[in-house]
Amino acid sequence: MPDSRNWFAPVPPHRRRLCEPVSRRGVLIETEGRTLLNFAANDYLGLAFHPRVLEAAAKTIQQEGLGSGASRLISGDHPILHELERELSKWKGFEAALFLGSGMLANLGLLDALAGRDTHLFCDRLNHASLVDGVRLCRGRMHRFPHLDYAGLKRLLAAHPGSRKIIVSDGVFSMDGDCADVRALLSLADLHDALLVLDDAHGLGVLDSEGRGLTAAAGVQGHPRLVEVVTCGKALGAYGAFVLGSNELIAGLRQRLRTLFYSTALPPCLAAAVLVSLHVLREEKLTQRLRENIGMFRTLAEQYGLPIKPSVTAIQPFLLGNDESALRASERLREAGFHVPAIRPPTVPEGTARLRITLSAVHTETHITRLVEALDALGRP
Ligand SMILES: *Cc1c(COP(=O)(O)O)cnc(C)c1O
Repeated sequence: MPDSRNWFAPVPPHRRRLCEPVSRRGVLIETEGRTLLNFAANDYLGLAFHPRVLEAAAKTIQQEGLGSGASRLISGDHPILHELERELSKWKGFEAALFLGSGMLANLGLLDALAGRDTHLFCDRLNHASLVDGVRLCRGRMHRFPHLDYAGLKRLLAAHPGSRKIIVSDGVFSMDGDCADVRALLSLADLHDALLVLDDAHGLGVLDSEGRGLTAAAGVQGHPRLVEVVTCGKALGAYGAFVLGSNELIAGLRQRLRTLFYSTALPPCLAAAVLVSLHVLREEKLTQRLRENIGMFRTLAEQYGLPIKPSVTAIQPFLLGNDESALRASERLREAGFHVPAIRPPTVPEGTARLRITLSAVHTETHITRLVEALDALGRP
């Protein structure tokens, strides 16, 4: 009989996930005694190291302690969590918000709370794993449509008249950097009496002139059929997540969301830091700086004729196809001083292994130019 030492079958080398300890300092990363320029963080605005953000967190730790001590239901519901919810929902253009631990917890809890046995969920095939798992674990029935194929989605919706329906999609897709057409999704939701659950973890801080994300860029924020999830672990440089929606929906979730009740409330210092981040990103026009860097990278990549997929977001995938070429490319970039991981199946579909380059507002013109030169050199022996 197997014991804990041989429970799992060995993973073949080209599929092994590389978990190595790293320490981060702004755009630099230290790993195995080497310092590399990091093009693999989702800290798109550099807020994780912003002095004003760190100061807010440190000051709140002094006053309020480190952990929150309990779930929000018991005694962990610090007033600053509510202040952050009010501020974020106002900025995002929704009536209300709920602040809870991580995007993963938010999606698992949200889909469980929304869907009963009679609910049908319609999911884009490239949705983030947290949405996939949320749908798998809830009691509803899953239907999947090909990536961004809204004609296919429409047929699926039409095949289930009379039932409760939820369309589930990433806003910005996390491995491709492309975007859902949120207006098209909402008109389908209107037509077929469905809700739209949209996870815009990678749109917040990146899209819309103010950084309010995909739904603000499309002018549909606060739509009554829209339930949006955004996270603090990406452009906000921290940890945690928000569910945004109508007053009634958020009040209902406060009564039903198991990942809210049965998980310790986020630390007050984190909420304090995120509150300051929301001010800093506007005052310092960080989204604008990021967008300039994205534009610069794409212009250069085009001049060099690099195989970068179209993307207006901070995620710029460089397609290589098979696992070995992606691993080799990542290793060669490391030798040249850059940290850009290879992303392979099952995280992405078979045959689409890639380098996932992420850009930040705090990369300089020199950083970006040197990266493009190194990517170009990959094509040469
Ligand atoms: C990162 C991510 C999540 C998970 O958020 P965490 O806060 O890291 O748990 C959920 N959805 C999408 C689309 C993501 O990219």
